[in-house]
Amino acid sequence: MRISKVETFILRVPLGSKTFRSSQARFPERNSLLVRVTTSDGIVGWGEGGQYGPPEPVAACIDRVLAPLIVDRPFSEPVRLWEQLYTHSRDFGQKGTYIEALSALDIAHWDIWGKALGQPIHALLGGAFRDRIQAYATGCYYPEEIDAGSASLDALAAEAEEHVRSGFSTLKMKIGLLPVAADGARVAAVRKAIGPDVALLVDANHAYNAAGAIRMGRELERWQVSWFEEPVVPEDRSGYRRVRDALSIPVAGGECEFTRYGFRDLFEGECVDIAQPDLCVCGGYSEWLKIQALASAHSVLTIPHVWGSGVALATALHALAVVPPTPHTDNPVPIQNEPVVEYDRQPNPLRDDLLVEIFALEDGCLAVPSGHGLGITVNDEVVNRYRTEA
Ligand code: CA
Repeated sequence: MRISKVETFILRVPLGSKTFRSSQARFPERNSLLVRVTTSDGIVGWGEGGQYGPPEPVAACIDRVLAPLIVDRPFSEPVRLWEQLYTHSRDFGQKGTYIEALSALDIAHWDIWGKALGQPIHALLGGAFRDRIQAYATGCYYPEEIDAGSASLDALAAEAEEHVRSGFSTLKMKIGLLPVAADGARVAAVRKAIGPDVALLVDANHAYNAAGAIRMGRELERWQVSWFEEPVVPEDRSGYRRVRDALSIPVAGGECEFTRYGFRDLFEGECVDIAQPDLCVCGGYSEWLKIQALASAHSVLTIPHVWGSGVALATALHALAVVPPTPHTDNPVPIQNEPVVEYDRQPNPLRDDLLVEIFALEDGCLAVPSGHGLGITVNDEVVNRYRTEA
């Protein structure tokens, strides 16, 4: 059996009045780049690539450069194919769009391989440590009109309480858009709303230099924050290390990093306690296996980053299933040495409606898909509803 067809789909959903903000950007829409790879005997694999930028360049990389290289190739060699495609684009695509395109294709290849062998991807990756994963809510963004006053703190606290009421025992909030004192007040408001027993994570989306992050970190230490995500820009390895050395809070990062080579530098630089490769960004499963091995050798817990559609969420769940407790204990504790799954709670019909399967929170956990390949069924009607032309 050989790969016979590669198709890209750009999906786009305007958010209108539900537009929200992080420290870096407004989100007036949700979008996803999906790829569908079909074999000569009709097996279909899906993948998603790129999470942070426009989908059109990723689609162009696939359509114009990479797809012609894989049509007529055997479907059952995803790792070999990855190496060959990376070698082809190394001189101009070591990070960014090309690796996102490669990620989408690699995920689709593993989906096909699993379906052909009658196995879920987590089995092909070597065996699951768990069949359900504690989920954390990613929410508490900034509204489009920012206001550091008490009205917005009340709304923030109400949102945090709602996440706890709906079953989450861990919550991640955004910081970094406002001055340190105002963001400290936001963190305090959320901690007071959720009480002492709910784990609180904060994400700055690299809003600070090292000195600013350390100053913010002193505030966070008052409110029992369980990790400080992307305190500084991804290129600032020594800044990461300075923040990590100065604070008692674990430092997380890696969603904007690519391939084994980027993560090698992150680990050798002693930048993070928790690595967050995004499967749709870092190179897909073939590359993630190497990143996970490097993380393990550095005693770094891997907790893949999740954003995007239901395809991205399913993709991450298979990888999360095979992360060993790091370090091992007989009673692994979420965040401390056991992975948790990021469950974005911002509006996104591509996450909620795209798949026939529904990812429902049960006892605060999401189940790892057990069907063949990714174990998902993409709803063609929803694809057609949100599809736009490149
Ligand atoms: Ca993040």
